[in-house]
Amino acid sequence: MGAFAIAGREQKNARFSIVQSAHGRFSHTGTQQFAVDFAAEVGTPVVAAHNGVVVQTRSDSKTTCGTSECAHEANQVRIDDGNGNVSTYTHLDTGSVVVKAGQQVCQGELLGKAGMTGWTTGPHLHFHVADVGGSTVPLRFYELPAAAHASSLEGGIPVPGMVVVSSDTRSPCSRNVSYSSCGNAFRDLGVDITNNFSCTAAHVDETYEIEGRILIPDFHHVLVKQEVVTREQEVVEGSELERCVRVEHGTFRVTVQWLSKHMSDGSEGRLMIAAGAPYAGSCFVNAAKFARLYLQGARP
Ligand SMILES: [Zn+2]
Repeated sequence: MGAFAIAGREQKNARFSIVQSAHGRFSHTGTQQFAVDFAAEVGTPVVAAHNGVVVQTRSDSKTTCGTSECAHEANQVRIDDGNGNVSTYTHLDTGSVVVKAGQQVCQGELLGKAGMTGWTTGPHLHFHVADVGGSTVPLRFYELPAAAHASSLEGGIPVPGMVVVSSDTRSPCSRNVSYSSCGNAFRDLGVDITNNFSCTAAHVDETYEIEGRILIPDFHHVLVKQEVVTREQEVVEGSELERCVRVEHGTFRVTVQWLSKHMSDGSEGRLMIAAGAPYAGSCFVNAAKFARLYLQGARP
């Protein structure tokens, strides 16, 4: 990761402490294990740590509480970093988000202001980078010094207790980035996507063709599952679709779409493509990994 996600220069080199980092006991567990929390007063500018395309924003929430029940009430910005990962900037102040879905942003560019919406007991920026399945990945920040903490063996690792200052680094940014391609996102399920299909964002009511190849020679089918989930992560009734697609000469082709009639604010499309075992002619798959596609487009 590039610059810190919080703007030091605009705040006259304000210093921010890292209050929770990877494996933090308060809430950085499970899929959130590599998230970082920067203590920051309400109103502190939050800037992009990496170039990318905005895939989802929320700015209207005024709700906050200290339990996981408020987790889906955070204002936030999600950015496809162009490399298959999505960065999330969370707890932003009500009405402070200045970017919108589909917009390309450059590293160091203002996204919104720090706040304390959602699941939090104080104002801070929660920042994480996740793969298409929503699992966070380890982070390094090049603005962090190599020996900032006795226990950090290498530079760039955010350690709780560190007091840090961002220099709001900006990198050249062409603004012609597009959404990440799915690529090998389902490789561990035995398939590769070979055409330019994105696993981070989709426009509702648009039909997308997916082409791929199967990585397990004996398998002759792929299971294609899709659904829409609400902001609260509940599956929308009627949005589930499951197909068993025949593989010909090692390749397959399938069309997918997510419908506006299933969409509400904050909806995500879910997609899984997996090699199916040739079991009694069916498409049995004993694994699950759903890509999260942030749904774009007008509501009905
Ligand atoms: Zn956090």
